[in-house]
Amino acid sequence: MLTAVFVARPDMGLLIAVTVIALALGAHLVASIGGGDMPVVVSMLNSYSGWAAAASGFLLANNLLIVTGALVGSSGAYLSYIMCKAMNRSFISVIAGGFGTPAAASDDGEQGEHREISAEETAELLRDATSVIITPGYGMAVAQAQYPVAELARKLRERGVEVRFGIHPVAGRLPGHMNVLLAEANVPYDIVLEMDEINDDFAATSVVLVIGANDTVNPAATDNPASPIAGMPVLHVWEAADVVVFKRSMAAGYAGVQNPLFFRDNSQMLFGDAKQRVEDILRALDSLDAPIPEMAGSSR
Ligand code: NDP
Repeated sequence: MLTAVFVARPDMGLLIAVTVIALALGAHLVASIGGGDMPVVVSMLNSYSGWAAAASGFLLANNLLIVTGALVGSSGAYLSYIMCKAMNRSFISVIAGGFGTPAAASDDGEQGEHREISAEETAELLRDATSVIITPGYGMAVAQAQYPVAELARKLRERGVEVRFGIHPVAGRLPGHMNVLLAEANVPYDIVLEMDEINDDFAATSVVLVIGANDTVNPAATDNPASPIAGMPVLHVWEAADVVVFKRSMAAGYAGVQNPLFFRDNSQMLFGDAKQRVEDILRALDSLDAPIPEMAGSSR
């Protein structure tokens, strides 16, 4: 309304008033958004900036601005829609800022005792496994662990272990982030599966390696309706016989919620940088393979 008045009768005071109201409205719109909805909102704001640029293009009669603005606006809106679908969120309610919904209680404290495992023990678990699923997340990108992870997958497959990768649609910080990293490390496409393709197979899997993933493997999304990520589809890693979680600490993931997976009986934590820990496992596997040196004098 004020903008319409400003367009009809430009005035500095009016411009300042519109700017202040817009700033307050923007802050209010995003303040109530938390947990897993944040990336959708970031992408949505990116889309708005595109539409604003396109509108400026119309005002300035600048075709380039209209085309590039529309491109940014529509791609951002489409990306947000894909993310909403992946997280089982309503597109409209996320962009409306979750108005009218009570804020979910943040739950980032410890939820019991966690168990630790060493790289050598993980190598032994993998040696005895028949099927392994690797679920990478943002931490694999931070550690740049995709190359040793690809090497681990290759080694295990050579031993006859069935190895597959389970990719959550919003694992990492961009849609397709994990797929790009795995392709870069030459992991064959046919063993890289989407969440929907692999989610029913966890129950029949010997070992799951959760490499730097957190929110995308959080059972609270399905078990706890009060969780900020409730309703978001996740990889059902906890259904496997053994789960090894690679991370540096017990810190929460992007959504800021603690992960009950870490405290389950079949989960063990392998602390440290993901790249170094995977390299340790590779070395441990090699030493498990190495022939035991004959005892001095035993061959005589
Ligand atoms: P998260 O961001 O939930 O968790 C990443 C985990 O990696 C952390 O728990 C962290 O634990 C661990 N980590 C970080 N660095 C290392 C390292 N060097 N070595 C080992 N572990 C490490 O990851 P997910 O991929 O599971 O989830 C993605 C999240 O990002 C979702 O909430 C999603 O909504 C959001 N998001 C996704 C976008 C997308 O388009 N894909 C865009 C923006 C956000 P620690 O610090 O203890 O090591």
